Amino acid sequence: MDLVCASANPDKYTEMVQILSGAVNLIPRPREIPEVIEDEDDLEGNARLKAVAVQAATGCAAVADDTGLEVDALGGAPGVFSARYAGANATYEDNVRKLLEEMKDVDGSKRGARFRTVALIAWEDGSETIAEGIVEGYIAATPSGVGGFGYDSVFVPFSGGGKTFAEMGDKEKNEISHRGEAFRSLKELLGGGNE
Ligand code: IMP
Repeated sequence: MDLVCASANPDKYTEMVQILSGAVNLIPRPREIPEVIEDEDDLEGNARLKAVAVQAATGCAAVADDTGLEVDALGGAPGVFSARYAGANATYEDNVRKLLEEMKDVDGSKRGARFRTVALIAWEDGSETIAEGIVEGYIAATPSGVGGFGYDSVFVPFSGGGKTFAEMGDKEKNEISHRGEAFRSLKELLGGGNE
């Protein structure tokens, strides 16, 4: 099955290709499609905006990912604003720096957080298929590891043996990650199995 990727983020695209392999041929987002303004107030709304825009522009079914990091001590922030936590043109490093600064006085036992991904396919007939993935963990005091992207260097999943996502290989991260769970569920909903 062919699906156009509605995410312009190359880091996400790489993970989506790996997770969906065997069930979906993921076509990169055509560069000429204008950027979508993600101004909904939740992940599902933003995933829908991206998938519907790319479906309409290409005429093909499109799949979007919208992801947020929800930190308990910050009342669920940055959440839907994770990409621009430190400002409109923030880099990954800017966002991590701001997060660690906001968390500098928060005790180890209160550093709980989770990544949440909504994966959404917009089909040619206007229908949609949605799945969600969540991974629970905590925010480390300092960054560790060189893999992954975004907040990976400061997120320690409870199911990862104490490593940050950035200290894991791609396969190891995908097996337990929010995105892995969301896209494996999507694959199952498409009848593509779980492998
Ligand atoms: P969006 O889904 O494109 O709005 O992305 C939200 C932001 O969350 C990204 O810019 C990254 O900073 C971060 N993010 C998304 N997925 C991951 C992940 O798997 N690991 C670490 N950070 C992520």
